[in-house]
Amino acid sequence: MITNKTSHRIICEKALRRYPEILMPQDKIPTKIHFPQKFTTVIEERTAIKGSLTAQRTNTITCWTDGSKLDTGYSGSGVLINSQTLGDISWYTSLGKYTTVFQAEIHAILTCANYVAHNNITHHNITINTDSQASIKALAQYKQTSKMVRQCNLAINNIASNNLVTLKWVPGHSNIEGNEKADTLAKRGSSIIPTGPEPILPIANCTIKSILNNQAKKDHNKKWTSRTDCRQARETMPLTCAKRTRMILSLRRQELKNVTAILSGHCNLNKHMFITKMSNTPVCPKCNLEEETPTHHLGVCPIYQRLRQKYIPLPINVPYDISKCPIKNIAQFLTNTSRLKEIST
Ligand SMILES: [Zn+2]
Repeated sequence: MITNKTSHRIICEKALRRYPEILMPQDKIPTKIHFPQKFTTVIEERTAIKGSLTAQRTNTITCWTDGSKLDTGYSGSGVLINSQTLGDISWYTSLGKYTTVFQAEIHAILTCANYVAHNNITHHNITINTDSQASIKALAQYKQTSKMVRQCNLAINNIASNNLVTLKWVPGHSNIEGNEKADTLAKRGSSIIPTGPEPILPIANCTIKSILNNQAKKDHNKKWTSRTDCRQARETMPLTCAKRTRMILSLRRQELKNVTAILSGHCNLNKHMFITKMSNTPVCPKCNLEEETPTHHLGVCPIYQRLRQKYIPLPINVPYDISKCPIKNIAQFLTNTSRLKEIST
């Protein structure tokens, strides 16, 4: 029995206990290579599409598919089939809370393909319309890493052996009758809370990532807000923010240095220099009005008012506002004041 657990093992074991989704059936599969595709995919310009929606003809099956996820978190798919051979059919399915919109779209297409196969349809022109370009592109790829996409791809290829199958993109919410009806059906499916066990479809990799990321973000914020040190940094960054982090990391080297220094408070402004006993006073040497903190430099010091109006147009008199100020503007302001390059007095 192994008793000497490393910290990473403990983290993984905790995650498995906290998130049962990790142990549920997964959608991710080892990469499968599949070619050639027996069906055609069409993604046209929006303007070209409206005119090309033709009326029903003999030996033609037109399918409209859609997937949806409501604010309640539940997903559903909707399918509408127009055909002289099969008649007009429509149905919707509830797909539970773990299904993503992309999976719901794929599920709708798969349902169409299975229905056609089940009815032994041959020598027909079959068009499956979807408003999901992502689904069409995923199904057209010869490399597949998703169980759902793989299953759908095989089902379409199966019916394409004896039919001419086209997978076609139509713009969503553009008053195209078939798409609007499929959308209504998908929403109807999403509005039903399933009674069976979840997950209805295999859990997508992005769902697991999102669950873990959200929890990591919550844990990070909890740890950050409960700290008693880092006072200045917590004033300028009250909560962690991935978007601001990305913006900071995209800055040029000197800008990155300035912004990191000002947001953390570890810079040559007099407040910090006084704390580190490198200055006799914490007061701003430019205006002598108050302590020279990052908040004072960015939002208050009257000496830099003209530059502030140019680069930080919104008044930032309280720390809360600094946390909202775009990083690029702060970087430009700091470059132009050159205060961080000056030697403290
Ligand atoms: Zn000042």
